[in-house]
Amino acid sequence: MQPSQTFFHCPRCGKATRPSLVMRFVCQTCGFVYFFNPTVAAAAIILNPSGSLLLIERAKEPAKGKWAFVGGFIDPGESAEEGLQREIREEVGLLVHDIRYLCCYPNAYHYLGITYPVLDFFYTARSKAPDLKLDPAEVTSHQWLDPEEVKEEDLAFSSMQRAFQRWKST
Ligand SMILES: [Zn+2]
Repeated sequence: MQPSQTFFHCPRCGKATRPSLVMRFVCQTCGFVYFFNPTVAAAAIILNPSGSLLLIERAKEPAKGKWAFVGGFIDPGESAEEGLQREIREEVGLLVHDIRYLCCYPNAYHYLGITYPVLDFFYTARSKAPDLKLDPAEVTSHQWLDPEEVKEEDLAFSSMQRAFQRWKST
Protein backbone atom coordinates (compact mmCIF):
# COMPACT_ATOMS: atom_id res chain seq x y z
CA MET A 1 0.00 0.00 0.00
CA GLN A 2 1.27 3.45 -0.94
CA PRO A 3 1.26 6.21 1.74
CA SER A 4 -1.48 8.07 -0.17
CA GLN A 5 -3.77 5.04 0.19
CA THR A 6 -3.78 5.49 3.98
CA PHE A 7 -5.41 8.92 3.85
CA PHE A 8 -9.07 8.28 4.70
CA HIS A 9 -9.56 11.74 6.17
CA CYS A 10 -8.05 15.17 5.64
CA PRO A 11 -5.35 15.49 8.35
CA ARG A 12 -6.30 19.16 8.87
CA CYS A 13 -10.12 19.41 8.77
CA GLY A 14 -11.00 15.73 9.24
CA LYS A 15 -13.32 15.54 6.21
CA ALA A 16 -13.68 11.96 4.91
CA THR A 17 -11.86 11.30 1.67
CA ARG A 18 -11.24 8.45 -0.73
CA PRO A 19 -7.67 7.09 -0.59
CA SER A 20 -6.02 6.88 -4.00
CA LEU A 21 -2.73 6.52 -5.81
CA VAL A 22 -1.70 10.14 -6.13
CA MET A 23 1.46 12.19 -5.76
CA ARG A 24 -0.24 14.68 -3.49
CA PHE A 25 -3.35 14.86 -1.35
CA VAL A 26 -5.59 17.88 -1.88
CA CYS A 27 -8.56 18.39 0.44
CA GLN A 28 -11.59 19.59 -1.56
CA THR A 29 -13.09 21.06 1.61
CA CYS A 30 -10.33 23.11 3.27
CA GLY A 31 -7.67 23.18 0.54
CA PHE A 32 -5.02 21.40 2.62
CA VAL A 33 -2.25 19.93 0.43
CA TYR A 34 0.11 17.13 1.42
CA PHE A 35 2.93 15.87 -0.82
CA PHE A 36 3.91 12.19 -0.95
CA ASN A 37 7.44 12.83 -2.16
CA PRO A 38 10.19 10.24 -1.69
CA THR A 39 12.11 10.35 1.55
CA VAL A 40 15.90 10.45 1.37
CA ALA A 41 18.37 7.86 2.62
CA ALA A 42 22.14 7.52 2.33
CA ALA A 43 24.44 4.51 2.61
CA ALA A 44 28.15 3.99 2.20
CA ILE A 45 30.46 1.36 0.82
CA ILE A 46 33.02 1.58 3.64
CA LEU A 47 36.49 0.27 2.96
CA ASN A 48 39.18 -0.47 5.54
CA PRO A 49 42.91 0.13 4.92
CA SER A 50 43.33 -3.37 3.45
CA GLY A 51 40.53 -2.80 0.92
CA SER A 52 37.88 -4.93 2.58
CA LEU A 53 34.30 -3.77 2.45
CA LEU A 54 31.93 -3.54 5.43
CA LEU A 55 28.58 -5.29 5.34
CA ILE A 56 26.09 -5.37 8.20
CA GLU A 57 23.36 -7.91 8.85
CA ARG A 58 20.07 -6.04 9.27
CA ALA A 59 18.37 -6.59 12.64
CA LYS A 60 15.02 -5.14 11.57
CA GLU A 61 12.49 -5.41 8.80
CA PRO A 62 12.46 -4.68 5.98
CA ALA A 63 15.07 -7.14 4.73
CA LYS A 64 15.81 -8.46 8.24
CA GLY A 65 18.77 -10.85 8.14
CA LYS A 66 19.96 -9.55 4.77
CA TRP A 67 23.35 -7.91 4.24
CA ALA A 68 23.60 -4.19 3.65
CA PHE A 69 25.88 -1.20 3.47
CA VAL A 70 25.68 1.01 6.54
CA GLY A 71 23.27 3.92 6.24
CA GLY A 72 19.83 5.20 7.00
CA PHE A 73 17.29 7.94 6.62
CA ILE A 74 18.33 11.58 6.57
CA ASP A 75 16.86 13.73 9.33
CA PRO A 76 15.33 17.17 8.60
CA GLY A 77 18.06 19.80 8.50
CA GLU A 78 20.87 17.37 7.68
CA SER A 79 22.82 17.10 4.46
CA ALA A 80 23.03 13.58 3.02
CA GLU A 81 26.68 13.40 4.10
CA GLU A 82 25.90 14.56 7.65
CA GLY A 83 23.07 12.06 8.00
CA LEU A 84 25.26 9.32 6.61
CA GLN A 85 28.05 10.04 9.10
CA ARG A 86 25.54 10.10 11.96
CA GLU A 87 24.03 6.77 10.90
CA ILE A 88 27.46 5.15 10.59
CA ARG A 89 28.40 6.44 14.06
CA GLU A 90 25.11 5.22 15.58
CA GLU A 91 24.91 1.82 13.88
CA VAL A 92 28.52 0.63 13.98
CA GLY A 93 30.42 3.26 16.01
CA LEU A 94 32.77 4.19 13.18
CA LEU A 95 34.21 7.50 12.11
CA VAL A 96 34.74 7.59 8.37
CA HIS A 97 36.63 9.91 6.09
CA ASP A 98 37.13 10.49 2.37
CA ILE A 99 33.36 10.39 1.75
CA ARG A 100 32.66 10.50 -1.97
CA TYR A 101 29.39 10.50 -3.86
CA LEU A 102 28.89 7.38 -5.98
CA CYS A 103 25.35 7.26 -7.35
CA CYS A 104 21.66 7.52 -6.52
CA TYR A 105 18.77 5.12 -7.15
CA PRO A 106 15.11 4.96 -6.18
CA ASN A 107 14.00 2.28 -3.76
CA ALA A 108 10.74 0.96 -2.31
CA TYR A 109 10.86 0.55 1.47
CA HIS A 110 8.20 -1.83 2.78
CA TYR A 111 7.46 -1.12 6.43
CA LEU A 112 4.41 -2.16 8.46
CA GLY A 113 2.24 -2.61 5.43
CA ILE A 114 3.18 0.66 3.71
CA THR A 115 5.51 0.96 0.74
CA TYR A 116 7.43 4.20 1.08
CA PRO A 117 9.15 5.68 -1.95
CA VAL A 118 12.78 6.40 -1.06
CA LEU A 119 15.66 7.98 -2.92
CA ASP A 120 18.87 6.22 -1.87
CA PHE A 121 22.16 8.13 -2.14
CA PHE A 122 25.28 5.98 -2.18
CA TYR A 123 28.77 7.02 -1.20
CA THR A 124 32.15 5.44 -0.74
CA ALA A 125 34.03 6.10 2.50
CA ARG A 126 37.13 4.93 4.30
CA SER A 127 37.69 3.90 7.87
CA LYS A 128 40.92 3.49 9.79
CA ALA A 129 39.42 2.08 12.98
CA PRO A 130 39.15 -1.72 13.01
CA ASP A 131 36.87 -1.89 16.06
CA LEU A 132 33.14 -1.60 15.61
CA LYS A 133 30.50 -0.94 18.23
CA LEU A 134 27.27 -2.38 16.83
CA ASP A 135 23.84 -1.09 17.80
CA PRO A 136 21.96 -4.37 18.41
CA ALA A 137 18.62 -2.71 17.63
CA GLU A 138 19.79 -2.09 14.07
CA VAL A 139 22.65 -4.49 13.37
CA THR A 140 22.90 -8.21 14.19
CA SER A 141 26.44 -8.81 12.96
CA HIS A 142 29.01 -7.53 10.51
CA GLN A 143 31.70 -8.74 8.19
CA TRP A 144 34.62 -7.21 6.32
CA LEU A 145 34.74 -8.84 2.92
CA ASP A 146 36.96 -8.80 -0.10
CA PRO A 147 34.72 -7.00 -2.65
CA GLU A 148 35.09 -10.03 -4.93
CA GLU A 149 33.39 -12.15 -2.27
CA VAL A 150 30.28 -9.95 -2.04
CA LYS A 151 27.29 -11.59 -3.69
CA GLU A 152 25.08 -8.95 -5.19
CA GLU A 153 21.91 -10.99 -4.63
CA ASP A 154 22.62 -11.11 -0.87
CA LEU A 155 22.31 -7.30 -0.59
CA ALA A 156 19.13 -6.07 1.05
CA PHE A 157 17.69 -3.70 -1.57
CA SER A 158 17.64 -3.47 -5.35
CA SER A 159 19.03 0.07 -5.17
CA MET A 160 21.96 -1.28 -3.13
CA GLN A 161 22.57 -4.03 -5.66
CA ARG A 162 22.63 -1.48 -8.47
CA ALA A 163 25.00 0.78 -6.49
CA PHE A 164 27.36 -2.14 -5.88
CA GLN A 165 27.32 -2.95 -9.63
CA ARG A 166 28.06 0.68 -10.39
CA TRP A 167 30.94 0.78 -7.90
CA LYS A 168 32.50 -2.42 -9.30
CA SER A 169 32.34 -1.01 -12.81
CA THR A 170 34.15 2.24 -11.92
ZN1 LIG B 1 -9.43 19.43 4.80
